[in-house]
Amino acid sequence: MVKQFVLIFVLVAVACGQSPDSGVIDSMPFRFERESLFADSLADSILYSQKERGFFTNRMIVAERIDSATVLISNFTPAQIPAVTLLSSDTTVLFLIDSLAPFSRLKIPLEPPLDSLVPEQFVLVSDDSTFRKINEITVPWFVWFSSHFGGKWGKVTPEIAKKHCALMANFAWLVSDSTFRREYLFDSTYVLLNNRTNKAGDSVNPVIDRNLLFQRLATHRAFQFGVIQSGVAGLGVWKSVDDPGFVGAFQQHSLLGLKYFTFYEQNSSYAMRILAHETGHIMGFTHASTIAIDDRDDPDRTGFPSMVGNCYLRLLNERKLPFPDDPF
Ligand SMILES: [Zn+2]
Repeated sequence: MVKQFVLIFVLVAVACGQSPDSGVIDSMPFRFERESLFADSLADSILYSQKERGFFTNRMIVAERIDSATVLISNFTPAQIPAVTLLSSDTTVLFLIDSLAPFSRLKIPLEPPLDSLVPEQFVLVSDDSTFRKINEITVPWFVWFSSHFGGKWGKVTPEIAKKHCALMANFAWLVSDSTFRREYLFDSTYVLLNNRTNKAGDSVNPVIDRNLLFQRLATHRAFQFGVIQSGVAGLGVWKSVDDPGFVGAFQQHSLLGLKYFTFYEQNSSYAMRILAHETGHIMGFTHASTIAIDDRDDPDRTGFPSMVGNCYLRLLNERKLPFPDDPF
């Protein structure tokens, strides 16, 4: 069925707003739509919707069939990806895309429509180096944006959402990379202790099993991002352990706020230490643990936030992260 597809060339300019476009297949005109995922005018109901603007970190540039006649190609990164090819599961070339714009989504009609009973996997291919980096991410965190507002919490705007997307690409890539697992997580310079009962209740042994900690981090289900407007640099809110599918203590939802977006400075790991610290909180750890220890309580930089921060800074300076330079 897939082999019936005609090769389609889709020339895509930099997307801005939502607009219909047209092309030609075998002299027959067709139309596709392109949409900016985080336009300044984006409605709150879409920005804060898990369905509309949530994404998995291991599928930040993704093609998916939404019905028998439509494919969506979404790019939740700040990267402009040139020369993208969409393949079907049997490697038939379906579309050649001249350029996939940052934070954009293409809605492309399938002609003829697929049999809706046939599951169809799509593969995107590009020689672009950033595209390849993003596809190295294996950590399947779900990321979406919070409408929570008030007190220390500010309002997440489309501009802030874009920054969160980029930093989560870097963070998820770091946790997916063997450097973090092999050289940092098991480095005894870093002391991983759970000194008291944490909110998730797993404190029988104060010495943390590093393999289990890694599994817990790598399989953490979701990051719900807010933004901090005053008072503190970050907040991480642990909610509950409500999914029996996870072993041990493992919170499922979080609000995570960041104020200082210094994720691209070559000599400061501060922002990533905050992100790691709040990640410790949303995994259920308190300041009594070295997983979410405060900077002021960790002058020797031996806790988990410093471990993550040091690894991040090294990979940033070695230009191994998907976004080693500020993309904004
Ligand atoms: Zn804290």
